[in-house]
Amino acid sequence: MNSKRKISLSLLLVMSVMFIILIINILINFREYGIQSVENKAKAIAQTVKHSLTSHMVNGVIDNRSLFLEQIENLENIDNIWLSRAPAVIEQFGKGNNNEVARDKIDEEVLNTGKEKAVVEEKIFGKSSYRITIPYIGNSEGSIDCLSCHTTAKEGDTLGAITISMSVDDLKEVGITTLTNTTIIALILIVFILIFVNKLISPFLTLFESINRVMKKAQIGDYSDRIGETNGKESDEVASWIDGLLEKLQSTLEDIEHKINVFLVHQKRKRIDPLVDVKTTVNRLADIYRFRKTIEHDENINEVYERLAYILREKFKITDFNFIEADTTHKNTNVIYIEKEIHCNAQDGCRADRTNTIVDSCQFHKMCDKFNYETKKSHICIPYSISNDLDFIVSIVNDTEEEHQRVRDLLPSVQDYIDTAKPEIVSKKLMYKLELTARTDPLTGLYNRKYLEESLKTIVSQAKRANITYGILMADIDFFKMINDTYGHDVGDEAIKIVSQTLIENTRESDIVIRFGGEEFIVLLHNCNEDFVFEIAEKIRVAFSKKEIPVASTSFNKTISIGASIFPTHTNNFWQCVKFADIALYNAKENGRNKSVVFSKELLKDKELTDEY
Ligand code: GH3
Ligand code: MG
Ligand code: MG
Repeated sequence: MNSKRKISLSLLLVMSVMFIILIINILINFREYGIQSVENKAKAIAQTVKHSLTSHMVNGVIDNRSLFLEQIENLENIDNIWLSRAPAVIEQFGKGNNNEVARDKIDEEVLNTGKEKAVVEEKIFGKSSYRITIPYIGNSEGSIDCLSCHTTAKEGDTLGAITISMSVDDLKEVGITTLTNTTIIALILIVFILIFVNKLISPFLTLFESINRVMKKAQIGDYSDRIGETNGKESDEVASWIDGLLEKLQSTLEDIEHKINVFLVHQKRKRIDPLVDVKTTVNRLADIYRFRKTIEHDENINEVYERLAYILREKFKITDFNFIEADTTHKNTNVIYIEKEIHCNAQDGCRADRTNTIVDSCQFHKMCDKFNYETKKSHICIPYSISNDLDFIVSIVNDTEEEHQRVRDLLPSVQDYIDTAKPEIVSKKLMYKLELTARTDPLTGLYNRKYLEESLKTIVSQAKRANITYGILMADIDFFKMINDTYGHDVGDEAIKIVSQTLIENTRESDIVIRFGGEEFIVLLHNCNEDFVFEIAEKIRVAFSKKEIPVASTSFNKTISIGASIFPTHTNNFWQCVKFADIALYNAKENGRNKSVVFSKELLKDKELTDEY
């Protein structure tokens, strides 16, 4: 039912109830008034009859009272009139000519009680009448002393009663006419009010219904509907304001959406409500803008990667992921950020990078041969091209199918962040390369001590976060001075180069080889435990001992000694751990050189531990 009909019906109902109340009120009042006026008339007649009868008595013409009573009876609306004497009066004076005795129970009751009694006989369609029986009470006071004649009666006794029966049909007729007129007037009034109210509120109701319709659509994101005409001056004005506002809102939203989409090309936009969409998009843009501003001021590429990791962890609630850098020129792939643990051997090649497509483990059984599927986790690896010679791969590992799907849906947003970070990654990478020159040893091309000092923060935090252990090897050429002294510095330099080569050949991409100073080297073995570290050290030692160091037309062999420690197993202070490796190296030298020794607490017994590093 529409609002217009609802209001009209309510109005009609209210007016009908009011009308019925009015009619009932008129009826009650009219009846009361009618009975009251008949009663007054009857009482006046009774009083008149009483006085007339007394006069008849005083004048000695009481026997002629019948004529008088007949004349009274002939008065308009009087149906019947009779007198009834009390038993004491009958006893004294008899029943009279007209047998003036009690005619019915009402007469008897009034004569007995001395109290008047009225009976109304109402019939809607038949004759209606009013009958009243009024007692005549004897008293000796006043102008006429009743008791002077009624000698057997006492003061206050009922001497007789007069009964008057009157027709109230006249009054009934007037009542019905009044009621009919009132009803007709009220009905005309109701119809008039309904038409008037309808005309008055119709435009507002149209406006209300249109607002209702338009707002319902706006609620679900459709701002295209308009209110239009309402056929009322004020309501049309309101409608045009609302329509104008909607027009402005719609065009502004379209404009914003159009402009914003230029920035967020990767968003798969689920159109729900343009207003909500705009809010979400502006929030996303603000977040991305903040991210961009922050990474602009970051010192190095690792900080940018840390920020990206923060976004993935805190904003997208991704818990397990790695970042992989792929140097497309040198065909190197390296895990450069580990959030929780390493799930693949990316250093041996990355499928996502090679194919330049998203590698999703849900698409095929054992999708990537470098991934460790024993954990029964799913992975999704996304390659992003950062520059001509650098690809960046985000490898996300998920525990559940739902989580995997959620991550899939998040990829466009992740891409926005990576696109934003792209220029910073490129410039910081370039800067890093330039700075790397200062951190590289010119003789061997290995990192130098400065590099180690600077990368230490990242290495230590990564080790703690991902629970990674690093094997630290300290290698020193045995009796190196002799080479210099015997063959000269150039041959010594050559020997240093061969050691560096041997170290590179026997370590992995993820390990870090550093020329620590002179003919001393440090190797950081990524993810290496105590059993493994000795194995690697021995492999290096043996390999070098077999290398020929050329001198003129001949060559010679040299040996190296290696000390090893495990970070943070032996100590969580990195430089302390380096010192432990040095103690192990010292032990190897002491015990005849050409040896690998892994640090143990026993080695500290003879050596006083200092914090010189
Ligand atoms: P040990 O077995 O105890 O290590 O004996 P060693 O002779 O090797 O002794 P040590 O490690 O102290 O020798 C260091 C020598 O290395 C001193 C220095 O002359 C030489 N050296 C340091 N840097 C270079 C370099 O860049 N080129 C050459 N040719 N020699 C260097
Ligand atoms: Mg030395
Ligand atoms: Mg030496």
